[in-house]
Parts: sequence; structure tokens; C-alpha cells
Amino acid sequence: MTVRLCFTLLLSLLMGCSPREAGTRELSAQGWIDVTATLDPARTPVYAGDAPMKFDFLKDMRKGDILTLSVYSLGAHSGTHIDAPMHFVANGAPIDQVALDPLIGAVRVIDIPDSVRAIDSGELSRHDWRGVKRVLFRTRSTLRGWMDSSEFHKDFAYIAPDAAQLLADAGVVLVGVDYISAEQFGAPAPRTHQILLGRGIPIVEGLDLRPVQSGDYDLIVLPLKVRGHEGAPARAIVRKRTGI
Ligand SMILES: [Zn+2]
Repeated sequence: MTVRLCFTLLLSLLMGCSPREAGTRELSAQGWIDVTATLDPARTPVYAGDAPMKFDFLKDMRKGDILTLSVYSLGAHSGTHIDAPMHFVANGAPIDQVALDPLIGAVRVIDIPDSVRAIDSGELSRHDWRGVKRVLFRTRSTLRGWMDSSEFHKDFAYIAPDAAQLLADAGVVLVGVDYISAEQFGAPAPRTHQILLGRGIPIVEGLDLRPVQSGDYDLIVLPLKVRGHEGAPARAIVRKRTGI
């Protein structure tokens, strides 16, 4: 009797809280939203002075070739991409050494009004971001569709150094913006990059946040794994978090 009771207890314990249970749930694309800017030389903005984007077909079945084969030429910071510490930190980690931990997990999308260009400490204080590990700023660039417009707009919203410092000090592990740079255009020094990357915080730039609203999401953003370079294009997807 005792043995049987023990066995039943053990069985129910195993079935009730087996760690395998979560793992057996099948992963699917359901609910995931693509917030990657489409790379298109005709429509993707290129930062002033950066390399032009050029996509060619070496072979093309539409022209009678037996296969289709492309060659891409583009800056490492084209479209949606990630800056690794090496971008502005001497001996900083290259993109292939950025850990998965900051790139996958809970994120908060924060709406910044169209009138705001500088996301500084004052602007930050108007939003609920404390306690969040990852932050994406949805700014005027999203409202104006600028990641889908070939013209380079210099008056994009940027993260001011004092806000970068607050985010870094609060333990944020990833920061994202919706235009090609997180830094003010023409800033006298790249302080925002230095502060965030100096703390090992990767910066996602060039997100297209038009398909999402402010709120809490799960995020997966994975850069191309290029050995020894300071940045790479990435694919970014989010899924609304429910029940939190
Ligand atoms: Zn960059």
C-alpha cells in the first residue's frame, strides 16, 4: 500500500512538473511580428558617408541562366543591424562574440512623440522603463516610415548620452532604435555609443517598428555571425507578451 502510494505520488510529481513538458510544446511562427527593415537599394536609407548598397545577380534564371545567384555589397550597418562593442570600444567584442542572452528575451517598446528628437533623461523620465532589461524606442522615424525611404534624414530621434547613462546604470542589456543610428547626427563625440557599448550593451539600429505598438513583447534579434567585425545586419522579430 505504502509502496503503491509512493509510486503514485512520484508519478504525479513527474507528470505535473516535468521540465520536459515545456520543451515538448511545438514552436511556431504564430504571433511573431517582423520588425526588420527590408534591405532594398532603392528604398533603404544609407547613413551619410557610408558605403552604397548594391545587390546584383551574377546568374539569373529569368534571363536564361540555369540558376539564380546573387552578390551583395553593403555596409555592415545597413538596414536593421546590431552594433557590437568593437564599433566604438578599443578591444571591444566583435559581432560574432556578442552573447545570445541580450538578443533574446523580454523587451518593452516605448513610444516617443513625433515632436521629440532627443531622447534624453527628461524624456526617459516620462516613460515607464524601470526594471526592464531590453528597450526599443518607437519614434518619429517609425511614424514617418523612414526605414523604408531612400532619403537619409538627419533629424531622426536619437538617444542622448545622459539617457544612455541612465539605461546602462539601470542594468538594461539591449537598446534598440528605429533609425540607422542611436547617436545624434553630427554629435561632437559618439558618447551614446561609447556609454552603451562600453558597458557591453549591444545596440540594435534601423528597426522598422511600424507593425507594433508600445507595450511588452518577446524579442529575438540575431545578427549575421561575421568573425572579427564590429556590426552586422540582423533579423528582428517580436511577439506580444500576454498574461503579465
Ligand atoms: Zn550601427
